[in-house]
Amino acid sequence: MTIEEMKNKYRITKDLHTHTRYSRMGLYFHAKGTIMQNVEAAVECGLEEVAITDHGPKEIYGLNPKKLPDMRREIAEAQRLYPDIKIFLGVEANIMDSSNGLDISPEEIKDYDFINAGYHYGVPKCGMIANWITFKLPTPRSWKERMKERNTELALRALYNNKIKILTHPGDKAFVDIEKLAKACEETGTLVEINARHRRPDIDDLKIMANYAVDFIISSDAHKPDKVGRYVKSLGLALASGIAVQRIVNIAERK
Ligand SMILES: [Zn+2]
Ligand SMILES: [Zn+2]
Repeated sequence: MTIEEMKNKYRITKDLHTHTRYSRMGLYFHAKGTIMQNVEAAVECGLEEVAITDHGPKEIYGLNPKKLPDMRREIAEAQRLYPDIKIFLGVEANIMDSSNGLDISPEEIKDYDFINAGYHYGVPKCGMIANWITFKLPTPRSWKERMKERNTELALRALYNNKIKILTHPGDKAFVDIEKLAKACEETGTLVEINARHRRPDIDDLKIMANYAVDFIISSDAHKPDKVGRYVKSLGLALASGIAVQRIVNIAERK
């Protein structure tokens, strides 16, 4: 199926992973749009649901939890203007070496409608430098294996100790045992993300994950409003990996 045919046959119903200017470090805005702009873009795409999921607080450009009341206020305002779309306040928590494997404590999780989680650089106790070196540079196999083991252990700790809605871009930025992650998503009912921004998981990892009883979700991971609702290439990747459309929870056939 060509890109054009896919676009005409299928639509995306919800985008549960988008970023706004609340992902920032001082005067540097890691993502460019406002909450209202993301919502407007989502409405324009015909989405039924959209989530604002800025980066977890321990990342260098993570959200500031003190701003949560402002975010709630902006979401309420957008919800009032656009009653037909459901807007959520989530967060993209960071997988790191903490007691629950995340940069958000179990008490803080209650501040959000749901949490997604993924691996990112720029977070303390996440093995950033070792991961960067082993993932990007030619290094001995034993180093890669050691990092893979460590990263997998942290991801499993996060998955089994928290109710995570979406595991974001597994396999991006650091080696992981994709089979163990897929098994954990199966056992915990966590959605496996097919990420349109990072193109992860890649086709090889998707083929492996497809062997487990997991459901998938396509996310734009938009860092600009005009990327909200992006899905077609990720859908193409999923279909090429042998994943049935019915297993992607936010893809529907156009009437
Ligand atoms: Zn991410
Ligand atoms: Zn993201």
